[in-house]
Amino acid sequence: AKGAGKNGYSFFEQSMNTNARNHLQLLHDLRQAVDGRELLLHFQPKFAAGNGRRVIGAEALLRWQHPRRGLLMPDQFIELAEKTGLIIPIGNWVLNEACRQMSLWYAEGHRDWRVAVNLSAVQFCHAGLIGNVRAALDRHHLPANCLTLEITETTAMRDADASLAILGQLSDMGVDLSIDDFGTGYSSLLYLKRLPANELKIDRGFVRDLERDSDDAAIISAIVALGQALDLRIVAEGVETESQQAFLTGLGCDSLQGFLLGKPVPAEQFNAGVKALA
Ligand code: C2E
Ligand code: CA
Ligand code: CA
Ligand code: CA
Repeated sequence: AKGAGKNGYSFFEQSMNTNARNHLQLLHDLRQAVDGRELLLHFQPKFAAGNGRRVIGAEALLRWQHPRRGLLMPDQFIELAEKTGLIIPIGNWVLNEACRQMSLWYAEGHRDWRVAVNLSAVQFCHAGLIGNVRAALDRHHLPANCLTLEITETTAMRDADASLAILGQLSDMGVDLSIDDFGTGYSSLLYLKRLPANELKIDRGFVRDLERDSDDAAIISAIVALGQALDLRIVAEGVETESQQAFLTGLGCDSLQGFLLGKPVPAEQFNAGVKALA
């Protein structure tokens, strides 16, 4: 019995060590990734709602081409980046890279497109944010309204007064502002009314169960009405089926995003897809 207990303990201890080691290794790798050209962006097209397929821009989604582990998705490293502060240089890289790509699209004539960048809560509260956004736009000679910054409803709500001040400055700069994962937080209508946002992005969860759950259709329809009353664009993400597309268009969403219409892909593939549509 003693032996088994000992084995059990050492097994547990070993797996703890393995976890901690993996964690440290990943952190070490992430530090290198920031300046080692291992980060890349995929772009997912955003479309005007309706029958035609008119691209109105793209959301930049971060990927990490790890030298041994392959292509990593944000949920495998963003949290670590946030905890260690690495999200600041990483987020800055994303901002610059997205603006660089948007400046190429702009030069090709897509002047009415916007590129959307996700901001983590840590980045949003960081004192350098405004300067970093200004610098990225200037460096790529990009009009501010070609950049959408997406912050989650939860981030925007965390400290309402501070958020209003930051969003106010970004809005004064002319940057387009989107409230992501909308419907999952607890925004008061009063707060929402004061928020200088341009867009509400309906959380994917509501879209997913649209056909099965009549509550979700009612919620989406309420969000659309709210957005219209407050003069906000409404985007639905996670559109995977034609019936969802038809439903969301019918409810009055302005734009749509999802695997049905276009998956996140590297810029070259994105450009080829746009050419094929034209
Ligand atoms: P998000 O901002 O809500 O982004 C949408 C996520 O849904 C993306 O996952 C996208 O690939 C996925 N998606 C899009 N359409 C569909 C669909 O039709 N069906 C399904 N099932 N999924 C769809 P991804 O790229 O893994 O990103 C996950 C999250 O990571 C993002 O959620 C965002 O919160 C975060 N993230 C991504 N890039 C960045 C970044 O550059 N900075 C920060 N701070 N966070 C990022
Ligand atoms: Ca987003
Ligand atoms: Ca979202
Ligand atoms: Ca329900």
